[in-house]
Amino acid sequence: MIDITLLGTAATMPLPERALTAVHLSFSGRSILFDCGEGTQTAARKAHVSLMKTDLIALTHYHGDHIFGLPGLLQTFGCLGRTDPLIITGPDGLEEAMQPVLQLCGSLPFSVSLFHLPQNGVSLSDLIPHWGSDSMLIPVPTRHRVESQGYWFSLRRPGKFNPAAAAEHGIPQKSWSLLQRGNPVTLEDGTVVLPQQILGPDRKGLNIIFSGDTAPCGTLVEAASGADLLICEATYGDDELACQAEKYGHCTFSQAARMAVEAEVKRLWLTHFSQIMENPEDCLPFAQKIFPEAVCGTDGMKITLRYSDDMPLPHRP
Ligand SMILES: [Zn+2]
Ligand SMILES: [Zn+2]
Repeated sequence: MIDITLLGTAATMPLPERALTAVHLSFSGRSILFDCGEGTQTAARKAHVSLMKTDLIALTHYHGDHIFGLPGLLQTFGCLGRTDPLIITGPDGLEEAMQPVLQLCGSLPFSVSLFHLPQNGVSLSDLIPHWGSDSMLIPVPTRHRVESQGYWFSLRRPGKFNPAAAAEHGIPQKSWSLLQRGNPVTLEDGTVVLPQQILGPDRKGLNIIFSGDTAPCGTLVEAASGADLLICEATYGDDELACQAEKYGHCTFSQAARMAVEAEVKRLWLTHFSQIMENPEDCLPFAQKIFPEAVCGTDGMKITLRYSDDMPLPHRP
């Protein structure tokens, strides 16, 4: 199961109840932080989310409202005695953007490595062994004023375990879990049994998409196809601001909703609200007339996604 928490839902500048952009994803006790705007730490405290188990920070682009929380967070990790290595990924320009951040932090008791995701993404176990082989992180090129990318987190669900097939191959029960987790098993006589010999066909996994900042974008729709959750920027509420949205490389509520319809996602959370919108809920009808299940994100809003779940409603603090 995957826990997703929206930490910050503001664009450009923070408001008393709206921190700047950050999304926390946790799976099996470890986590990924998508963007780290100013106020991420306090937003996480309020939402009862620990950031200490963050293995990877995935940045969508280097505008201040998405990264200015980083020096403070890294400093806090250091103060709390973190020794686990940290990976930071992002689009082109990562080294240049992180150089001043790391310089500000000075020496830290843990390593920070900068990593560019390959176009087809990476199995997280290749980056961080304890993530297991079932989770993938894939960059999604987006359409903003600067180089930008969204992210597609995909959790594969292996097929059903077949105990009869395991017994037939002479696999001892203590090794069953290895196969269930997608690993091969070597028997005493040297025979290697592969998971696909024992497991049925893959079942539907879980897919989550985070847009970062973007104007309406085909690659995002493609990546989000059938996703369980699309967290999409919707900087402007009113359709009348569509020209402004296009000029600055953002979406309106209805444009985000249209992408959700095209991609046939299960859930749509809107986020990254302009400070001109005092109450984003007032504009929600612009999205709901296109995608009725659209929800306005709020800081601290969270959901637990499970395999074959029954559409739980987001929990607001
Ligand atoms: Zn932004
Ligand atoms: Zn931006």
